[in-house]
Amino acid sequence: MRENPLKANLEGILQSPTVREAILYERMPDDKVRCGLCERRCLISPGTRGFCGTRINVDGTLYTLVYGDLSSLESRPIEIKPFFHYWPGSTALTYSTWSCNLDCIWCQNWTLSKVRPNPQRSRYYAPESVVEAALRAKDDGLCSSFQEPTLLTDWNVELFKEGRAKGLYCCYVSNGYMTLEALKVLWDSGMDGLKIDVKGDPETYRRYCGGVDAEVVWRNAREAKKMGFHVEIVNLVVTDVNDDEGCLSWVIERHLREVGPETPLHFTRYYPAYRLDNPSTRVETLERAYEAARDAGVLYPYIGNVHGHKYEHTYCPNCGEALIKRFGYRIVRYRLTEDKRCPKCKYRINLRGRHVKKRRILF
Ligand code: SF4
Repeated sequence: MRENPLKANLEGILQSPTVREAILYERMPDDKVRCGLCERRCLISPGTRGFCGTRINVDGTLYTLVYGDLSSLESRPIEIKPFFHYWPGSTALTYSTWSCNLDCIWCQNWTLSKVRPNPQRSRYYAPESVVEAALRAKDDGLCSSFQEPTLLTDWNVELFKEGRAKGLYCCYVSNGYMTLEALKVLWDSGMDGLKIDVKGDPETYRRYCGGVDAEVVWRNAREAKKMGFHVEIVNLVVTDVNDDEGCLSWVIERHLREVGPETPLHFTRYYPAYRLDNPSTRVETLERAYEAARDAGVLYPYIGNVHGHKYEHTYCPNCGEALIKRFGYRIVRYRLTEDKRCPKCKYRINLRGRHVKKRRILF
């Protein structure tokens, strides 16, 4: 009798060090499994993968294909994420794996997010080796970024436990589409920073991001804050997609309702990428979004990807004093007191971690 090639191939895949039994799934009838890592909650038949392509069902057991399979690894300023109120001035060892659970047509990191993992060509990084690399580079934290970090959660929880024990902060730059169970696992592993990329109103998610539900993202932002995460919200403003007044107002209104005025809200500039060639976002559109957010009560609005703009700085919400001046991803002046207050009126600023002064010039 001839061997079933699909089965032989699957058994070969299981030999790879980047393939491990997944966390967060349920066994279902007929050897199917239900993935519980993100809110797509894919029902996966034997021999097939979920929507993201990073999880495969082999005979009724779910495996991740990206355990420690890194597609990039480099020190980056935390401001580039952007995190403006989380360990300002620090650098994080920043890394990614492959693929995504959404499908945004303007993806700015599509060379990583649109590639499905191949365990036969993967390269395994042990969590301890990545923590060692961060310490050698004198980084202050670990940041899972570039593509959707939720897909790397199985490995990240081990990395974060190691990293925390060595004094590193741990954070995600995410689309916020994980399950609450995944969020809890991450919190328990020591992660405490979460940047969530909000794509726009429900119509934007339905039409342009692979038909997912905007409510999940806001639920996670709200619940993450309740758990104790430091949260920042980013809205990439895409020309003729989500840049109209109605859509921007919707984001501002939900921001205030779900995560409150103290949570930073960044409007960042889009550049043509992947399957969208609409022109780059007009700076005036970003300025209008910033001013609408500020006037509605958001205490820390920003615009991003417009270097040298005055709306990159942090101003005291109480007296208007410029507190942190930035040029792009670099802090050029930091004026908060030791206890994170405005030096003029003593208003306390929402900021996690401490200011880190780096000697080297970054970007
Ligand atoms: S992580 Fe992947 S396999 Fe799991 S539910 Fe999300 S898209 Fe589906």
